[in-house]
This record gives sequence, structure tokens and C-alpha cells, in this order.
Amino acid sequence: SIAATLHTFGRFYAAQKSCLSSLVFVETKGSGFDEGALNAITAARKISGPVVAVVAGSEADAVAKAIAKIEGVSKVVVAKDAAYDHALPETTATLLKALQEKEGATHIFAPHTAAGKNVMPRLAALLDSQQISDVISVESEDTFMRPVYAGNAIATVQSSDPIRVITVRTTAFPAATASASASAAEEAAPAVDAQALSKWIKEDMAKSDRPDLATAKRVVSGGRAVKSAEGFQIIYDLADKLGAGVGASRAAVDAGYCDNSLQVGQTGRIVAPELYIGIGISGAIQHLAGMKDSKVIVAINKDADAPIFQIADYGLVGDLFTIVPELIEKL
Ligand code: FAD
Repeated sequence: SIAATLHTFGRFYAAQKSCLSSLVFVETKGSGFDEGALNAITAARKISGPVVAVVAGSEADAVAKAIAKIEGVSKVVVAKDAAYDHALPETTATLLKALQEKEGATHIFAPHTAAGKNVMPRLAALLDSQQISDVISVESEDTFMRPVYAGNAIATVQSSDPIRVITVRTTAFPAATASASASAAEEAAPAVDAQALSKWIKEDMAKSDRPDLATAKRVVSGGRAVKSAEGFQIIYDLADKLGAGVGASRAAVDAGYCDNSLQVGQTGRIVAPELYIGIGISGAIQHLAGMKDSKVIVAINKDADAPIFQIADYGLVGDLFTIVPELIEKL
């Protein structure tokens, strides 16, 4: 209709006319926050213009204090309200939409985490914008790179939407850091009338004393070759010697050798630690999609032709049940 065309044109014109500016969604976790926001801030800084962080939840004021000290953040908008706890998409997307309008933001960033993947599509729909997901590079204000086909090809995407809704692959951008000189202004978010269409009930988290897989500097992963849940113990033992997080291939998870929260790959976690040790893992593309950006890759496999050796920096050919106990002893 003419009205709809005028509306679309009006939004487009408004966005073109205004200067560039970005909102970054920070997921609060009580008085803490998901650190993927720090990577999203780095991505947002590639767009010229101010970077406004959005912090929402019952302890948003405490989180806002920490975010205000992050270099590159121009302002922190604080929505201190329990309705925003657990980042339910209906309430959070409505808040972000209201703030996009208030701030005239041209870009809205979130990390490509469970919460980011939950909230941002809804926001994109509310803004009538095509979301750009899992970006690994910000080339310009309208052009982004993202992996496709499990990382086997990289698509360069140019967006003609006036407002760009973007999730970022956290391992592709360094985390923004706190700086003594940084002190962004804090501002209360306007009250937003959001319909609570869903309710948070509970979460069951796998508890572990080991470093979290997503942020661990070292990761030791086991594959099908460990043969059993008892056999997987050797992976934990080596990881503990190295202070490493523990990962696994899907074959190891499907066989019940370890918890599925440990799965690394296309349908698991994406990690890029400084050191990744893959033990008894063949190196299927779906596994590589989750770890090939690791800085140093070590593979232990009895088959010298296993594909994982093609991307490994160091390879040990031999039986893991001989090599790994020796490694543990030497360490
Ligand atoms: P295998 O491929 O069976 O490899 C075992 C390796 O151990 C072999 O290379 C063998 O030489 C070696 N070995 C055997 N015995 C020993 C020994 N004693 N000492 C040393 N080495 C030994 N996989 C993932 O990992 N993550 C994902 O997210 C994922 N997502 C998928 C999504 C889709 C849609 C599909 C179709 C598949 C996905 N997969 C994923 C599965 C993937 O294709 C592979 O099947 C899986 O990664 C294989 O796991 P593996 O390397 O442990 O087992």
C-alpha cells in the first residue's frame, strides 16, 4: 500500500540522514554478564559512531558499572527490572526496539550466543530487517563476512536494510577491555510496555570445576576412540594437568562417553583456545567447524592419514592409550 511504502521510505530516509550509531545487547547473569558482549563491543566499534551498551535485568545497575569502564562504550542504558532477567526474547526485543528508536541506532549487535540467537531474530522481525548472523568480520557499515557450509566457505553479505541487526561470532573478535580512562555515562532506559508471552521456569546447567569450554585458553577433546565413559577419564586427567577445559566429538557424545555440553563443532560449541588437543578424533568437517580457529592444534591419532592432521600444527601418530598416559606423566 502507499502508506506502507511511505513508512518504509520514511524509515530508510531517517536512517540514511542520521549518523551511524550502534547498540550492543549485554546479557546480564545476576550481577555478572555474558562476556560475549565484550566481543560484540569490539565488532560494534568497527562502525563509526557511538557505541551504546544496553544492560537489562534486576541487577542491571551493578553490571552497568562494569560495562561503563569498557573502552569504546559511549553510553550505558540501564533497564533495572526483573522482567528482563534471563533475556526472554519478547521483553528484551521490545526493549531493544524502543531503544533503537530513541537512540536512532543504525546497527544493533549481540553475541551469537543462545540468548543472542533467541532475542535478535525477534528484534529483526519487529524492525522489518534481515538479520545478519554469526559474522566474523565487519568490512564496512553495510558489508559483513560470515561462514557458511560449516565454515567451508565465507559469504560476504551486503545489507540494504536501513537498520542492521547483527550477531557476532565471539571467537572472531577480541574482547574489549576495561580501561582506567573509560567512564561511559549511564542513563535509565524508558519504561517499555512489553507483553510477557513466555515465562522463565528454570535451567539445568552441567556443573564443572574445570574451565568453561567457551572461554578456556586450553582445551583437550576426546573422540570415539576412547571407547567408553571410563576411557574418557584419560581426557579429564590430561585436561586437569594442563588446567584445560574438556571437549568432545559428537561421536563421543552420542556414544554416551561424556555430557553433550562438551560437544565441539558445527552443532556444538565453537572454541578458539590458544591450545587445542584433539585425541582419537578423525577431524570430520563438522568437528573442524568448531575448533579450526584455535591458535595451536595438536592431534593424537593412530591413523597417520586422519584428516585432523591436515590442520594440526603438531601431530602424534600412535595409540592414545599409550601416548596420553606418557604425556600426563611427563607433564
Ligand atoms: P571417528 O570419525 O570414528 O574417528 C575416530 C578416530 O580415532 C579415527 O581417526 C581413528 O583413527 C582414531 N583412533 C581409533 N582408535 C585410536 C587409538 N587407540 N588411539 C588413537 N587414535 C585412535 N561431529 C562433531 O564432532 N561435532 C559436531 O558438532 C558435529 N555436528 C554434526 C552435524 C551434522 C549435520 C552431521 C551430519 C555430523 C556432525 N558431526 C559432528 C559428526 C561428524 O561428521 C563425525 O561423525 C564425528 O565428528 C566423528 O567423531 P570422531 O572423530 O570422534 O569419530
